[in-house]
Amino acid sequence: MAAAYTWHPGSDGVNPRWAVPVQLLPDEIVSSWLVRAALAQGCDPLTFTGEIWPKWRIWTLDADRTISSERVTLLSLLSGISVAAFEAATLQPIASRIWGGLPPKKATWPWILALGARNTKRHGGLQYCPSCLAEDAKPYYRLQWRLAWHTGCQKHGCLLLDRCRACGAPVEPHRLLAEDRHVAVCATCKAGLGEGSPVPQSPDALALQRLADAISLQGHGVFHGQTLTTAEWFGLADFFISLCRRQNRYGTEAMRGVLNRLGAPLPDGLPVMAGAGVERLLVHDREKLLGCLWRLMDAGGDSLATALKEVGVTRQGFCNRREPLPSVLSSLVDSLPDRPVTRNRKPRQETGVPRSRDQVMRMMAKLRRKLEMVRR
Ligand SMILES: [Zn+2]
Ligand SMILES: [Zn+2]
Repeated sequence: MAAAYTWHPGSDGVNPRWAVPVQLLPDEIVSSWLVRAALAQGCDPLTFTGEIWPKWRIWTLDADRTISSERVTLLSLLSGISVAAFEAATLQPIASRIWGGLPPKKATWPWILALGARNTKRHGGLQYCPSCLAEDAKPYYRLQWRLAWHTGCQKHGCLLLDRCRACGAPVEPHRLLAEDRHVAVCATCKAGLGEGSPVPQSPDALALQRLADAISLQGHGVFHGQTLTTAEWFGLADFFISLCRRQNRYGTEAMRGVLNRLGAPLPDGLPVMAGAGVERLLVHDREKLLGCLWRLMDAGGDSLATALKEVGVTRQGFCNRREPLPSVLSSLVDSLPDRPVTRNRKPRQETGVPRSRDQVMRMMAKLRRKLEMVRR
């Protein structure tokens, strides 16, 4: 009987030119297979991929996004696994549904966790369920552990992790060595990643995760009685996430009232950072934010409209003019009072003038990320 899967079935046959055959497992992400294939041959992943593609430094990029047809054909020839099976194990099919077409080559892909790669080191971007890794006969990384709306394991009901619990390093299986033998080991401190007690995932974050999965797989979803494509639904999710993050940075009493009425009060401790989308947030922060998103997505059209009107939110308070307004919200926004804000242009910051708290927080976060990378 074929094993259960959500995103792809894995390979149905394998006939490699290498000594040890390695099947692509159901829902396995392609980079995980590459590392497992290397370790099975008694080889470091960096050496292994250097042998396959001598002129391509795959681990300095996000290997899971796309592999060109020329490179994947060579991999198929060597591994005995079909090109289609490998392509289904990349992030491109799902990213294309979220983007509504082929996503851009260089920019961060919406709702796909960013690796923040610098040479072969990373800031993050890969999550894992310690219980899954502990139970796997052959531990492997799942495709859904790269998706930003995934914060928990539905099988074990626990929160995913994105750092080694022993040393705090991000998960970098490509930096393992031949003697590590399997992928459930931290590449930095060699602690087992399947160890320790799991922490439960919040019910709201789980509900959002289930809904976003269904919408990604079906190609459509419903909001306030209207059918949306996957791309439109994620665009709406972006709008609400941005609303929550804006409220977190310089919130208004009115929007706080709306979020409270909808049962989506902003949790304490969300990072105050501009420009960092959900793709760069750590799993604990995403869990909180996605719990709020669930309440906003789940609120009926009437409750959202009533909350906005009762509290007296204006169009300008609800929308940021620099961000696209999802068309499903346009009639609701048209019904809100229009009070354009006129701002006097701020004078240029002069040297010696204290920076705002927001600027300092952003600079600190940037510096912390840099230091973290240097220390490893
Ligand atoms: Zn699990
Ligand atoms: Zn570690």
